[in-house]
Amino acid sequence: MMSENIDELKKVTGLIHSTESFGSVDGPGVRFIIFMQGCRMRCKYCHNPDTWALKSDKATERTVEDVMDEALRFRGFWGEKGGITVSGGEALLQIDFVLALFKYAKSLGIHTTLDTAAQPYLTDKYVTEKIDELLDYTDLVLLDIKEINPERHKELTANKNDNILAFAQYLSDRGNAMWVRHVLVPGESDFDEDLVQLGEFVKTLKNVLKFEILPYHTMGEFKWRELGWKYPLEGVKPPTKDRVHNAKEIMNTESYQDYLERIR
Ligand code: SF4
Repeated sequence: MMSENIDELKKVTGLIHSTESFGSVDGPGVRFIIFMQGCRMRCKYCHNPDTWALKSDKATERTVEDVMDEALRFRGFWGEKGGITVSGGEALLQIDFVLALFKYAKSLGIHTTLDTAAQPYLTDKYVTEKIDELLDYTDLVLLDIKEINPERHKELTANKNDNILAFAQYLSDRGNAMWVRHVLVPGESDFDEDLVQLGEFVKTLKNVLKFEILPYHTMGEFKWRELGWKYPLEGVKPPTKDRVHNAKEIMNTESYQDYLERIR
């Protein structure tokens, strides 16, 4: 890549909600996480509802260079596996920034992970046209599938899921490595028949390096209160160990771990 292009990339700006220096769950190894402002999903269990607004006085307009300078301060901790993860909010809503950041990161030999719920895919023509290019600079996609049943997905997130499932298929066809993640919420996304269907769907995808069941937790509840909003899942408790085990068995996640071991 030519140096003048890099100089242009460094100037691209994005609206950043916050950063985290030592992320350990959003991608392999130790990672610097960038949380983008803005999301159009309305997940009932969202632990970052303060990222929803597309514009916010509390978020900061920052350049690619500024964000990367901050990330590079932690490069010594990343080891061979770590790197940067762009999360949200919904990272794809600021695709120009993410694309510039990932291009710059790849020019520095940094591992790039995109954490997305894929809501803008196909619903936003501009985003969809740019995604191909972004994925050329993305080493790993963390894709959240909130619910496979379309009605329950709408109930849980206020959005449809056909485009999200289409995005999973697109990643599979394209050959992009992905981790699929499903948050298990009692009474919302833990119905056996849906888990079976989700498991079957994920098995049809190529390049799924990890298939994670994330038990719902209530740690984000206080943010809703801080915003003066009623928490939609008030009184809902995290799933029991049995229900988590049940989901893992139904969705056969162990086989993906085996798969991961095998391809290492
Ligand atoms: S996609 Fe993520 S940020 Fe957006 S509402 Fe859902 S949990 Fe929150």
